[in-house]
Amino acid sequence: MGAIAIIGGGISGLSLAYFLLEKDPDLDIIIFESEKRLGGKIWTEKAEGFLCEAGVNGFLDNKPRTLELSKKVSLEPLRSNDASRKRFIYSDNRLHRLPEAPPAFLASSLMSLSGKLRIMAELVIPGNVKDEETLAAFARRRLGKEAYEKLIDPMASGIYAGNPETLSLRACFPKVYDLEARYGGLIKGMLRLQRERKKQGSSEKVGAGPGGTLTSFYNGMGELVSALRNFLGERIRLGSKVQGIDRKGSGYVLFFPDGSSIETDIVVSAAPAYAVSEMVKNMDRRLSNLVAEIPYPSLSLVCLGYRKEKIKTPVDAFGFLIPSREKRNILGTLYDSSIFPNRAPEGYVLLRSMVGGARYSDLARENDTKLVDLVKGELAAIMDIRSDPDFVRVYKHEMAIPQYTVGHLERLRNIDTILQKHKNLYLTGNAYKGIGVNDCIENSFRLAEKIIEES
Ligand SMILES: Cc1cc2nc3c(=O)[nH]c(=O)nc-3n(C[C@H](O)[C@H](O)[C@H](O)COP(=O)(O)OP(=O)(O)OC[C@H]3O[C@@H](n4cnc5c(N)ncnc54)[C@H](O)[C@@H]3O)c2cc1C
Repeated sequence: MGAIAIIGGGISGLSLAYFLLEKDPDLDIIIFESEKRLGGKIWTEKAEGFLCEAGVNGFLDNKPRTLELSKKVSLEPLRSNDASRKRFIYSDNRLHRLPEAPPAFLASSLMSLSGKLRIMAELVIPGNVKDEETLAAFARRRLGKEAYEKLIDPMASGIYAGNPETLSLRACFPKVYDLEARYGGLIKGMLRLQRERKKQGSSEKVGAGPGGTLTSFYNGMGELVSALRNFLGERIRLGSKVQGIDRKGSGYVLFFPDGSSIETDIVVSAAPAYAVSEMVKNMDRRLSNLVAEIPYPSLSLVCLGYRKEKIKTPVDAFGFLIPSREKRNILGTLYDSSIFPNRAPEGYVLLRSMVGGARYSDLARENDTKLVDLVKGELAAIMDIRSDPDFVRVYKHEMAIPQYTVGHLERLRNIDTILQKHKNLYLTGNAYKGIGVNDCIENSFRLAEKIIEES
């Protein structure tokens, strides 16, 4: 097989390189990363005894590939604390515990009685599956307006920092789409699947949500990046931004900002879609335009550390999310030091708040002082924290999470058709077929197989 250039040293690019080398250790692979730091959205920083995740917080342990990869690079996964099963939604000026099971749902103060009855009515609403539909339209249609506003909208913030009025149900939550398509409804589908699992002797609970336990490493998600960096060694080129890609004979040539270029046989872009758009604009304008249609809102994370006694609201939980109808300035706050050990020094707590996302992108781009003031104001109102934090860090992602808006799946089909014209050019990364770390690693695993097969 010829030389392989991988563009982007986030988890997609790094895991792809790993899986390719696992199949053939003699492969000629170079990974070009534009930044001086490897890992992309995985970025762990330690300061003053706190461990901050500037981006990715963890992955769910119910898909095997990330765990398998961790094991192969000799890492010990760390499951989140039991307390983090407790999650809250801020609604009507207070925090409500998110119910985990049907009895708790009936007793929950989050939803009105009519809102609860409307959710239960989902069982008898006939299936009316649509090829494409926004998450908001789907949720209102099947679960009612209140459930949409208080449950689905904050969930879309928590996962995508997204706006459910534009996100595609089918692209973002294919499992939920399938429940209606196959069984005529969500509750019906979950009951059927539960019965089938029971018959097979499995005690695993069926839900419409992602399931699994949030998992990371004692020293944060950065451990995975470090382990892959150690494995890949000299194949990594940091500070190497690929500016352009063009065809040359049966292969490709990559251009860099200093005017240099290199030739290669196979190119895989594991860079964000907007970066791909820039790189291929001279080679294939249509491909460039198509990938540019994938929007990336801004998101900032504000990490505040406090001495424990300064916080009156119990923080032995995962944290809270805020429905957009509450019109607050943060999307929610995670109680990081309660989720995993080693996130704050003894006697302190670490809270991580999200600002921005698809609905409030401009807010995320405010300067650091303004962001910290804004979060402090919100934590005072929501958690009654009146003291100044003892530790502050702000992390900004100007182009944060790709949004799978309505039309995303058709866009992917069109991209695939165009790629057939460009043999040995591949696109991977979180812009296309799943935004989570688990999706990125699974997609890289499959792509490694495909590249070996096709070459
Ligand atoms: C704030 C935040 C929190 C998140 N939290 C979670 C979480 O807890 N769990 C989860 O599963 N997912 C989470 N995600 C989603 C996460 O982005 C993905 O799961 C995953 O990390 C994306 O990896 P990637 O390699 O596809 O992309 P990226 O991490 O974006 O990596 C792309 C890389 O390409 C590089 N690059 C860009 N342009 C060029 C160029 N021209 N030349 C060379 N290199 C280039 C970039 O510098 C970057 O390193 C979060 C995302 C954000 C923004």
